[in-house]
Amino acid sequence: MSIIVQKFGGTSVADSEKILAAARKAIRTQKKGHQVVMVVSAMGKNTDELVRLAREITEEPAAREMDMLLSTGEQVSVALMAMAIHSLGHQAVSLTGAQIGIKTDSSHTKARIQSIETDRMRAVLDAGKIVIAAGFQGIDEDFNITTLGRGGSDTTAVALAAVLGADACEIYTDVDGVYTTDPRVLPEARHVARISYDEMLELASVGAGVMHSRSIEFAKRFSVPVHVRSSFSDTPGTMIVADPEAPDQPVCGAAMLKNEARVTVLGVPDRPGAAITVFSKIAAMNVTMDMIVQNVGADDLPATLKAVEDATRELGAEGFNCDGEVSKISVVGMGMATQTGVADRMFRALAEKGINILMISTSQIKISVLVTRDVAPEALRTVHEIFGLETEPASLEAGGGDGPTEPHQAAAAANAVASIQGMEDLVIDEITLDASDARITLAGVPDRPGLAARVFEEIAAGGIVVDMIVQSIGWEGHANISFTVPRKDLDKCIALTTELASRLGCSAPTSSAAVAKLSVSGIGMRSHTGVARRMFSSLAEVGINVEMISTSEVRVNVVVDAAQGEKALAVLKKEFTDVTV
Ligand code: ADP
Ligand code: ASP
Ligand code: MG
Repeated sequence: MSIIVQKFGGTSVADSEKILAAARKAIRTQKKGHQVVMVVSAMGKNTDELVRLAREITEEPAAREMDMLLSTGEQVSVALMAMAIHSLGHQAVSLTGAQIGIKTDSSHTKARIQSIETDRMRAVLDAGKIVIAAGFQGIDEDFNITTLGRGGSDTTAVALAAVLGADACEIYTDVDGVYTTDPRVLPEARHVARISYDEMLELASVGAGVMHSRSIEFAKRFSVPVHVRSSFSDTPGTMIVADPEAPDQPVCGAAMLKNEARVTVLGVPDRPGAAITVFSKIAAMNVTMDMIVQNVGADDLPATLKAVEDATRELGAEGFNCDGEVSKISVVGMGMATQTGVADRMFRALAEKGINILMISTSQIKISVLVTRDVAPEALRTVHEIFGLETEPASLEAGGGDGPTEPHQAAAAANAVASIQGMEDLVIDEITLDASDARITLAGVPDRPGLAARVFEEIAAGGIVVDMIVQSIGWEGHANISFTVPRKDLDKCIALTTELASRLGCSAPTSSAAVAKLSVSGIGMRSHTGVARRMFSSLAEVGINVEMISTSEVRVNVVVDAAQGEKALAVLKKEFTDVTV
């Protein structure tokens, strides 16, 4: 019999009326002949309230006790949901994470799922009852209660769908699907009928809070089609599946991470192993970071500063500074991997609004810029508009892709699940070397709005395709911009940028005629903070210097000297053999 997993978020179970409405939805689904597993979040803002209570007692609650506390929110709602179903004359059994057998590691408040038992759930389902699973929680090998990180009920839902080989995983929430950006921030955001795993993964990791990004990693790994829809209406929602809605569209969505902090380590000696000193200390604190000039979540700032202070001392760097009032604006889209002129359009649009870009980092399908927090909403609106996100892409076929009738392979994937030990372990599927690029660096460019737009427009006008871009702040009021271009275009690009540099009043560009770009791609790249550290330390050990770095949710790229390319490839392949599929 087919299994459907239905997840109800906090607002969807905020009071008894809503709990009863959710119960009716599950019963209707069961009446259509499906077995139903409900995954339920804590009621309304209950988790926030519990966090607040803990903080009233102490500034630094023990993580284990935090999990003990936070898990109670979901325990309340599963019990009430079971009662609701009983009251409507149907049968249901509520289960905590521990009762289901959701085994996690012991990293309290951000635990990762290792395995899930299915026997008990199947027995309940086969007895004709609805399973009501507590979201967001699990148990470690010592029977301690763990939680999966804020928003983690999505991850519980997709993981259960994966192990049960469910036919559908429906995420009921307070919006009727995924939009081109948060509709609460920009009312002109457009509802999308379909989005690919990779796009959703990147969007979730750069601020689209509608889905927990780790849930999308599961969905991708086990081919679970995810249907995001409204608890309060019957509109079709959004399908998150393998293929994008409009593959040629350069940008499918934009997002904002409002509370970011920027930490700059100044005068780091440019030698192999310098980056690893900084990154390993930050990774040890379990802080996720974007790299080059690390840009960390403002909440993680105290821990990061401590790590950076240690690293600065150890490296003999000049010092460091930080800015806790910045936001990150990102655009994501499959199409940008194969199209030019996406980045410079974004930079130009921001420049025209007088918005200064503090940092840039690009990956295959994502461009992120850092701006001061006061202009962040305006920056989001600007990029949303320049890429025409409020209007439906022209290439979209009529009615393409919504509704739960999408083809899926979840059942087949479930067989694979049984053989996987750590369900949320890091998985690397590809390590590649691309030695066809050259690097150009413009250092000490006077930093003002429009700088990046100018640089990349002129290069685009010269018909040169830019791949990776990294811009960071150098000394006060000056920026460093590095980017890679095809080697055949290097001379032309040097001529162009030399001329540009003299107009901008900065020194001539430096370049490296032959660089090698190494990409490590897979699942869990960013949330496993150790990936970058392992890359740097293994390269540093053999004396290979990293010239540029960029990261995304699915890939970490590093640029090294071309002569070292093959060696670096071999080193990385060896380093990651244990997690490569
Ligand atoms: P739940 O409690 O159901 O898990 P969340 O609050 O976690 O709900 O997620 C839903 C919210 O996500 C929406 O209310 C919306 O404000 C926000 N959101 C952020 N980005 C997006 C987006 N791109 N599309 C839709 N909603 C978004
Ligand atoms: N209740 C938890 C939270 O608020 C988990 C969730 O809702 O997904 O973060
Ligand atoms: Mg949520």
